[in-house]
Amino acid sequence: MANKICPFCAIPEEECSGLNEHAAAFRDEYPLAEGHTLVIPKRHVASIFDLSNEEYRDLWELTRAMRVEISGEQNPAGFNIGINDGAAAGQTVSHAHIHIIPRHDGDVPDPRGGIRWVLPEKAVYWAD
Ligand code: 5GP
Ligand code: ZN
Repeated sequence: MANKICPFCAIPEEECSGLNEHAAAFRDEYPLAEGHTLVIPKRHVASIFDLSNEEYRDLWELTRAMRVEISGEQNPAGFNIGINDGAAAGQTVSHAHIHIIPRHDGDVPDPRGGIRWVLPEKAVYWAD
């Protein structure tokens, strides 16, 4: 069900770069990298863990399809696939979403750790 104050519920399907029965995908308005894409369930829920099995499957199926599409556009060397689940984990839009962030060699000086950098003081566990 659409939520009147949710920015993601307000995005029309015509503006989406990918759709299936229960999920939609569109470009992040403030991208971390070219092609940064968000995949959402069509139903407004805060957490992916509130989805039905069918919705959950479609969300991840569309994530896989968008990864193929982005790869065709710009041939990234890797991806960060991320979910901020809950305000404590950094979620700022309370409509569940999966970030697909294309990565390229050299886009940061040392990419090691990736998502571990959500807690920067503990990210590094390796010895150079
Ligand atoms: P979160 O912090 O909740 O995981 O991520 C929210 C994401 O939504 C951010 O990356 C932000 O750039 C993006 N965003 C916020 N508002 C809008 C919007 O109105 N349209 C689109 N396409 N992206 C948005
Ligand atoms: Zn919403």
